[in-house]
Amino acid sequence: KSIALAVVGTKSLGEGANICAAHVDSPRLDIKPNPLYEDSEISYLKTHYYGGIKKYQWTTIPLALHGVVYRADGAVVTVTIGEDEGDPILMVSDLLPHLAADQMQKPAGKIIEGEQLNVILGSEPLEGDGSDLVKLHIMKLLNEKYGLVESDFLSAELTVVPAGRCREAGLDRSLLRAEIEVVPAYKCRDVGFDRALLGAYGHDDRVDAYPALMAEIETKNPAFTTVCVLTDKEEIGSVGISGMQSHYFEHFMEGLCDAQGVKLSDCFANSFCLSADVSNAFDPNWPETCDKRNNSQLNYGVAICKYTGSRGKGGASDASAEAMGHVRSTLDKAGVIWQIATLGKVDQGGGGTVAKYVANQDIDTIDIGVPVLSMHSPFEIVSKADVYMAYLTFKAFCEDAE
Ligand code: MN
Ligand code: MN
Repeated sequence: KSIALAVVGTKSLGEGANICAAHVDSPRLDIKPNPLYEDSEISYLKTHYYGGIKKYQWTTIPLALHGVVYRADGAVVTVTIGEDEGDPILMVSDLLPHLAADQMQKPAGKIIEGEQLNVILGSEPLEGDGSDLVKLHIMKLLNEKYGLVESDFLSAELTVVPAGRCREAGLDRSLLRAEIEVVPAYKCRDVGFDRALLGAYGHDDRVDAYPALMAEIETKNPAFTTVCVLTDKEEIGSVGISGMQSHYFEHFMEGLCDAQGVKLSDCFANSFCLSADVSNAFDPNWPETCDKRNNSQLNYGVAICKYTGSRGKGGASDASAEAMGHVRSTLDKAGVIWQIATLGKVDQGGGGTVAKYVANQDIDTIDIGVPVLSMHSPFEIVSKADVYMAYLTFKAFCEDAE
């Protein structure tokens, strides 16, 4: 669920590495351990949302199911439903407006409650007598296709996302979707008549992860060792064994340093990290939420964010002036178009990235990435030009020799 890649440089690791860290998890609906039930002859999966979502955005859109199941017999099954043209998709229903008088009086956070994000699986009963025949029919179908029995959900990671998400990356799906999750079922599409924008689910943060990975793969004989980390669990605080707070990254670097007889602490002290993550693009529909003079804007290039956090920079990494200077001069030298980003106006809200967890290791770290419109929604929008500038950024750092 996390990937670390490196190209060993001609210089010693004691002189540091150029690191690029992006995350490959996105907000979604995860399937609960005991998910399957039937109510009023409709079969459902119970979900638990993952990351920061507006719950009402996840109803009445096509969703796909992804993930892995460890069956009782030890077999590992990969599940993908809703992505192929002929596949059925899944959905969460919403109340018709005709009967929504009470619902529409509620605050937006309560219009759809977490326990109402139940995914429709089917409605056709098995023939015969008895109860829960619709649910039994679904289990029969899952058994025929995947060999699953109901208790196998206990050792599964299944997730739902918008179906048909961005596929341009050409990455192995199992790398990006190692849990069973329900995800939106939209294909990546050009947005607008001029086709300058790109809409898809999960731009945060694959729109940085993919260019970072490509830059790493294309790097040959760098001066400094280049490292690309594609990490998990950022959307819930970089926790767990596959999140950036785990020691896996340190252990990976330790292995490289040991091979050269270099102290890990020397390597880290001399390293530089781009925390490659998205920023909020200025949205003219909500100008009051941002400081226009300090906000990133679509089509203005890759966005450098000195600090994230909330309130008085709480929870920020806050890169040094020296680190900012290093990034801007490297980008200017490479001819990369860049801009400055801050996350909304002061006291409006806030957020964080993996930057502070990398910086905790004594590694100079700076947030940089692509501005996104409708961030954390099932269909996020970015500028193609900005994505390309992000790619040039990661390439420039892989090739940096000073
Ligand atoms: Mn992100
Ligand atoms: Mn995010």
